[in-house]
Amino acid sequence: MKIGFIGLGNMGAPMAVNLVAAGHDVTGFDPSAPCPDGVAQAASGAEAATKADVVISMLPNGTILRSVATEVIPAMSPGAVLLDCSTVDVDSARAVAAEAEAAGLGFLDAPVSGGTGGATAGTLTFMVGGSAEAFETARPLFDIMGQKAVHCGAAGNGQAAKICNNMILGVTMIATCEAFALADKLGLSREAMFDVVSTSSGYSWSMNAYCPAPGIGPQTPADNNYKPGFAASLMLKDLRLSQQAAETVSADTPMGARAAELYTEFVEAEGCGEKDFSAMLPRFETRTRES
Ligand code: NAD
Repeated sequence: MKIGFIGLGNMGAPMAVNLVAAGHDVTGFDPSAPCPDGVAQAASGAEAATKADVVISMLPNGTILRSVATEVIPAMSPGAVLLDCSTVDVDSARAVAAEAEAAGLGFLDAPVSGGTGGATAGTLTFMVGGSAEAFETARPLFDIMGQKAVHCGAAGNGQAAKICNNMILGVTMIATCEAFALADKLGLSREAMFDVVSTSSGYSWSMNAYCPAPGIGPQTPADNNYKPGFAASLMLKDLRLSQQAAETVSADTPMGARAAELYTEFVEAEGCGEKDFSAMLPRFETRTRES
């Protein structure tokens, strides 16, 4: 396929490289990041999108997505698909979908989980909203860039799935970290705590697969001084998107709201945005009910 790739940052560059390695013809644009080897450099987003069968975007936020979409949609060929893999607010995804549809184009919102490691290894999971037809067009690309693509329904539903998943993740990580800190103070060893909880009803991905305690369970960022992994600043971004969406539809999400508050403190007041999001454990370790 002829592919335009817009946004070649930490995630976009390795995704584009995997498409080139699979034999696709990829033209890229990013105002600040260099084009990786094998990706032809365009002078603008519109140039990268011209004559492409699929235009992939991997951008920081919904405002930038909307402005890129307004630029590239008129340059795209009728019937082509705009595949946005960024994590953005549901409203922006749906607004861009409507703009694409009005121009006779397909649109998919397909945020990912798996981080930069998954982007490099081609093992991302895509959560996809949009038409079945557009999904079928993009399927071979999902197979190259990822290990799984779930079609979640209409446009915006990929973003909805992503923020609901990450709201659960933020809440369970905080609960796991505060429970470890409580166990420490009660004299319960972390090893015993892990052995019990990971095989009992408190188990979760945060405990079992991404244990925040160093030296316990599988290898995780905790074993590498909390180098991300998944940075706390990105968790905060996703928690804020989930709260923004909850407000839009008047959903009551008290635990998600509290998780957003705690990650705001952690990232903004405590300056820990570049640490892995599981570094909440050393944070709770040093705190008391008074501090
Ligand atoms: P990044 O900041 O490394 O890359 C974004 C790129 O977009 C930058 O290179 C920037 O120059 C480029 N850009 C900005 N404005 C542009 C424009 N008008 N035209 C073209 N390019 C433009 O961010 P990233 O880590 O690659 O993340 C990209 C998206 O993926 C975000 O929405 C993020 O939330 C999501 N995501 C990231 C991770 C992760 O672990 N990094 C994991 C899952 C999802």
